[in-house]
Amino acid sequence: MSTKQNVEKLIADINQKAGKKMSIANLFGSNVFNDSVMKKMLPKQIHAELKKVQAGEAKLTLEVANVVAEAMKDWAISKGASHYTHWFQPLTGKTAEKHDSFLSPQPDGSAIAEFSGKQLIQGEPDASSFPSGGLRTTFEARGYTAWDCTSPAFLKEDAAGDVTLCIPTAFCSYNGEALDKKTPLLRSMEAVSKQALRVLAALGNKTSKRVTSTVGPEQEYFLIDKTFFDQRIDLIVTGRTLFGAPSPKGQELEDQYFGAIKDRISKFMKELDIELWKIGISSKTKHNEVAPAQYEMAPIFSTTNIAADHNQLVMETMQKVALRNGLVCLLFEKPFAGVNGSGKHNNWSLATDDGINLLEPGHTPHENEIFLTFLSAVLMAVDTHADKLRAGAANPGNDLRLGANEAPPAIISVFLGTFLTQLLDNMAKGKATRAKGQQFLNIGVDSLPSLPLDNTDRNRTSPFAFTGNKFEFRMVPSSASIAGPNTVLNTIVAESLDEIATRLEKAKDVNKEVAAIVKGTWQKHSRVVFNGNNYAESWLKEATKRGLPNIRSSAEAYAAMANKNAIELFEKYNVLSRKELHSRYEIYLEQYAKHINIEARAAIQMSKTQYIPQVIAYTNELADTINKLKSAGADSSVQANLLEKISALLSSASKKLAVLEANTDKASNIGNMEKKAAAYRDTVFTAQAELRQDIDALEQLLPKDLWPVPTYADMLFNF
Ligand code: ADP
Ligand code: MG
Repeated sequence: MSTKQNVEKLIADINQKAGKKMSIANLFGSNVFNDSVMKKMLPKQIHAELKKVQAGEAKLTLEVANVVAEAMKDWAISKGASHYTHWFQPLTGKTAEKHDSFLSPQPDGSAIAEFSGKQLIQGEPDASSFPSGGLRTTFEARGYTAWDCTSPAFLKEDAAGDVTLCIPTAFCSYNGEALDKKTPLLRSMEAVSKQALRVLAALGNKTSKRVTSTVGPEQEYFLIDKTFFDQRIDLIVTGRTLFGAPSPKGQELEDQYFGAIKDRISKFMKELDIELWKIGISSKTKHNEVAPAQYEMAPIFSTTNIAADHNQLVMETMQKVALRNGLVCLLFEKPFAGVNGSGKHNNWSLATDDGINLLEPGHTPHENEIFLTFLSAVLMAVDTHADKLRAGAANPGNDLRLGANEAPPAIISVFLGTFLTQLLDNMAKGKATRAKGQQFLNIGVDSLPSLPLDNTDRNRTSPFAFTGNKFEFRMVPSSASIAGPNTVLNTIVAESLDEIATRLEKAKDVNKEVAAIVKGTWQKHSRVVFNGNNYAESWLKEATKRGLPNIRSSAEAYAAMANKNAIELFEKYNVLSRKELHSRYEIYLEQYAKHINIEARAAIQMSKTQYIPQVIAYTNELADTINKLKSAGADSSVQANLLEKISALLSSASKKLAVLEANTDKASNIGNMEKKAAAYRDTVFTAQAELRQDIDALEQLLPKDLWPVPTYADMLFNF
C-alpha cells in the first residue's frame, strides 16, 4: 500500500469515529511541493529533467532550476507564503532557517515577487555562529546551503499565520566540507547504493538502477502539564529533572503501555497527526508507552534523507502542538529517573528502485539468495564496526538511558531469532535445517537452505533486532537527529557489500560463492548475535567473554569516529574526511561538556535559591515549635527527631554542593577537550548525582506544600 493509501485509510477511520468528514485530498501533503504538484505546474520536459536529477542520472542545470524556482514561488505564494528559507541541519542536531522575503523592490518604487533558480540552488547564511570545529576559518565565515532536490520543499505555518517556503538543503563550508548532518547522510546513501548495486549485478540482477536505504523512525516522547514545567529550572534549561524523589507509583503496574489514551492527550495526538499530514509526514501509529506520561509516534518509512528531514519536523511539531494544548513535550532521553527513558527505534532496510526489499526473505530461490547475502553483509558490518554504531547513538542524554530501565545496554548485539540463527549456524556447519511444523520455501540451490515463510520472533531488549524484513536499531537517542546513526549504518554496510561484491565478481560459481560468504561470515561474526535477554546481568559477562565492546559513556564513544580505523573507512567511501571527522569529534565532545556544565549550574542554582533556603526556613519553623513546646512543658521529641534528620541532610547537602561547585569550576577551566569531557563525566556528573541523593531525601521529609518545585507524582500523573 502506498503512503497515500495508508493515510487515506487512517483519515477514513478518524472520520468514521468522529462521524465527520475530513478529506484527504485537502489535507495530506497539502503543504508539500511534491511530485503531483510539480507534474501539474512544470512543463513536461523540465519535470522529466528534474526526475533524472533526483534519480542521480543527470546534473541540475540553471535552466531547470529557474523554472522549478518560479513554479515553487507561485505555488507558495498561492498558499499565502511571503518568505522562503533554506532549511538545514547544523551540527547542533536541531534545524536552522533564515527567512528571506520574495519581495524584490523595483526602480519605480514598486515591488515584485521574485525567486530565481540561483536562489533555489544555493544560499549563503551567515554561518559564523554554528559549530564548525575549526572547519571554517575566520576569514571565511560564510557557509553555503545547497538544495537537496530529493527531499520535497514544504510550507511551514506558524501560530501568527505566517507561511514560509522551506527548502531542504545541505550545509557546507567554502571548501565543500560538511558543516551539517545531512551532507554525510546523502554521501553514505550514495556509497551503499553503489556497493549494493554491484552485489545485485553479480547476483544477476539486471533491472535495478538504484538502491536506497529506507528508515521508519519510531519517536518516543513525554508530555507534562506546562504549569509544572514552568516551575522547574532543570526542565527548562536541561530537558530533564535533576532532582525529584520517586513517585509512590511508577511504572510497576504496567498500566500505561498501550493503555486508553486520555482525552487531553488524544486531542494533542489528533492535532499532531493533522499538522504532520499537511506537510506530508505519514504519522501512522500512536500509543501510550511504558512509562507514565510517555508516548510514541511511528510514521510510515521512507527514503533515509526524507525520513531524517521528517523526523526533525516531527520533533518540532510535537513541541509546538504540545504548547498549544498547555502541555510540554519532553524529547530528552531520560527526563525522569526511575522510569523508562525515550529512544528512537530506527527501522532500517535497503530497497531497490524497482521495489525489492533486500532484507525480505522472498518467494523464490533467487530472492532468498539475495536476502542471505545482504543479511550477511549487515552482520559483518555491525560486528566489525560496533564501536562506530555506538558512537552514532551517543549523546549526553543517552548515557543516562543505555543500560538503565528498559533500555538496551551499551553493548551492540544483533537479534536474529532462533530460526535464522539455527539456519545460519547449520549452514556454517554444513548441516541441513529442518524444524517441525514450519513451512519452508525451497531455495532451489543445493548449497543454500530453505527459508521459513514467516519469521515472527520478537525480542524487545535487543539493541539491533531483525524484525522480519528490516533491522530495528533501538539505541538511537530520542532527541537526536537520525542522520548520524544512519550515516554510520549505510557506510559500514557499504564496506561489507564492497567486500562481498569483489568476491562475487571474481567467482566462477556465484551460488557457491554466496554459500561460502554466508558460511564465512557466520563463522567470523556470529559472536555479535544474541537472542537472549539483553537486560540480564549474565549478558554483560557473556559479552565480555565474546570480546564485544561495552562503551558506557558518550565521551568515550565519540572517539571511535575519529580514530585511524574510522578515518580509513569514512574516507574510502567519501562520506566524511579526516578533517570532517576530527571537527565533529571536537564539536560533540564540546557539546557533551557544555551539557553537563549546564546541568551542574542548574543544580547549583536550584539548590542555592530554592531547596536550601526552603529547608532552612523549615528548620527554623521546627526549632521555634520545639522551643514553644518545651516552654509549655509538652513533648517535642517527634519535632526534635525530624529536625535532627533534616539538619544532618542539610549539612551533607551543603558540603556536596560545595564539591559540585568546585568540580564544575575546575572542569570548565580545562583546555584540552578530551580531558575536559572526561572531567565533566567523572567529577561533575557524579558530584551532581551525589547532591541529588540528599535533596531527594529532604523532599521526602518536608511538607509537600513547602517543597519549592512540582514533584514526580505531580508531573507524571497529574493531567
Ligand atoms: P513493528 O511492529 O516491527 O515495529 P511496524 O510495522 O509497526 O513494525 O513498523 C515499525 C516501523 O518500521 C514503521 O515506521 C514502519 O514504517 C517501518 N518499516 C517497515 N518496513 C520498513 C522497511 N522496509 N524499511 C524501513 N522501515 C520500515
Ligand atoms: Mg517497533
